[in-house]
Amino acid sequence: MLKLDPYSESILFQCGRCRRVGELFTEMIEDEGSFYCWNCLGEIRQAGRRARKDQEGLEYAAH
Ligand SMILES: [Zn+2]
Repeated sequence: MLKLDPYSESILFQCGRCRRVGELFTEMIEDEGSFYCWNCLGEIRQAGRRARKDQEGLEYAAH
């Protein structure tokens, strides 16, 4: 999902998870065709590696 920033010529990307908007590479990163902020990508990758029982702890840390 792309959004144009009215205050600059940069193309901004919206996180598919938390809806945060930022510039690619500095704030956002592409992963398997979707865009996520660094924070969400880290949590997604952790969640993928870890067992299901750790999910509650990750969601708590995000709030
Ligand atoms: Zn995010």
